Amino acid sequence: MTFEALGLNTSLIKALVDAGYTKPTPVQEQAVPAAIAGKDLLVSSQTGSGKTAAFMLPSLHRLAEMEPTAAAKTANQEMQAARARGERPRFKAAQPKMLVLTPTRELALQVTTNTDKYSVNLRRLKAVSILGGMPYPKQMQLLAKNPEILVATPGRLIDHMESGKIDFSQLEILVLDEADRMLDMGFIDDIEKIVDATPSTRQTMLFSATLDGVVGNMARRITKDPQIIQVVSAANKHENITQRVHFVDDLSHKNRLLDHLLRDESLDQAVVFTATKRDADTIADRLNIAGFSAAALHGDMHQGARNRTLDSLRRGQVKILIATDVAARGIDVPTITHVFNYDLPKFPEDYVHRIGRTGRAGRDGLAISLVNHAEGMNVKRIERFTKQLIPVNVIEGYEPKKTASAARSTSRPGGWKPGDNRTGAKPGQRTFSKPGAPRKEGATTGGGYKGSNPRSTDGARRSYGDR
Ligand code: AMP
Repeated sequence: MTFEALGLNTSLIKALVDAGYTKPTPVQEQAVPAAIAGKDLLVSSQTGSGKTAAFMLPSLHRLAEMEPTAAAKTANQEMQAARARGERPRFKAAQPKMLVLTPTRELALQVTTNTDKYSVNLRRLKAVSILGGMPYPKQMQLLAKNPEILVATPGRLIDHMESGKIDFSQLEILVLDEADRMLDMGFIDDIEKIVDATPSTRQTMLFSATLDGVVGNMARRITKDPQIIQVVSAANKHENITQRVHFVDDLSHKNRLLDHLLRDESLDQAVVFTATKRDADTIADRLNIAGFSAAALHGDMHQGARNRTLDSLRRGQVKILIATDVAARGIDVPTITHVFNYDLPKFPEDYVHRIGRTGRAGRDGLAISLVNHAEGMNVKRIERFTKQLIPVNVIEGYEPKKTASAARSTSRPGGWKPGDNRTGAKPGQRTFSKPGAPRKEGATTGGGYKGSNPRSTDGARRSYGDR
């Protein structure tokens, strides 16, 4: 399948060639033609599947074909005439044609950056991000340019809507990106309010890891005769990411092991996830003292500082990022080879999002969870959610006092039998072992989970946040 066969215009295809995209991903193959035809879409997909291009390419294609509305033309002419008279043009509410709602600022910026890349040959189409934490005058400046495409987090957008800075009466396309996540974060009322302010004739595309429960209910309410697309690709299942659990006895064992693992020669860049902002700062400080170039990323940092840290990560100046869940969502840096769970996430779906920070753009990745013996149940929940067993690993010199099999058997009736020896590494797969570093694979059971996906979508998980 080629991008041409999907029906995209030549300006877009040229931009994709320049971006190094050779062929569409599975989600793009299905979503692009349907979206070009103007259909509503409900897409179950994960980050890393190419979902941004799946909604942005057909939208840019459609927007490029639309004539600017008479109202937009008049507004532009009035603005130019006022400038020619040396007057300050009167502020007119922005009238975007497309709105993308995302759960976090980082994801919004990522979407905007990708949009700029795809629309480089479509000069008329501008995309801007409207985000919490961005200075107000800067946002007013962006809105005054009346951009065709707004990418926004729900909270800040509501502020602008309510103060009359944005008028959605001309909106043609609405995208909800990572809708399940927005609901988890408690944005449902904001989303409903925003959707109500848009014309019912709009095209709606909703992307979400799951389409069950509350997300499914909302999806059905806001779409018309949607095409449902569920893509189970290797990237969705993270088959290119080797996963491991290391059991630890206490904090000092955990820190020693982390330092050892961070010195792995195959490590280019890593993200270390912590449960709290304070831990992120403390570990970043400790690692810097130990000689790593490390930086923290969390929700207490100002947007400017967060952007600078992400830029340093992209440029390779920061090698190890210590992050909380919300702050790290959407990070797309292909040179991240390792993800560490210093603390296990509270919800299994966060585990999937975390490990997806590595193994990007077709590369392999390694995801290592450092787990206290008492957390065996949490590992089991993750395994049930992903329907994959995570092999236990032991490194000589860093063995836990309790054996892995003993620890696992506390969480699983029957336990892992020594000798099962499942390593999880596939034939020919890069194993990330440090040359010369002895390693004993731990003992795990074979088989897999056949149980139903236990993900709760009851919307009651508002406690989730950037802790
Ligand atoms: P996303 O799922 O939107 O977060 O995209 C994941 C990564 O894949 C991003 O770095 C995209 O730039 C990249 N990508 C998206 N579509 C393609 C494609 N067709 N070929 C190669 N890379 C792609």
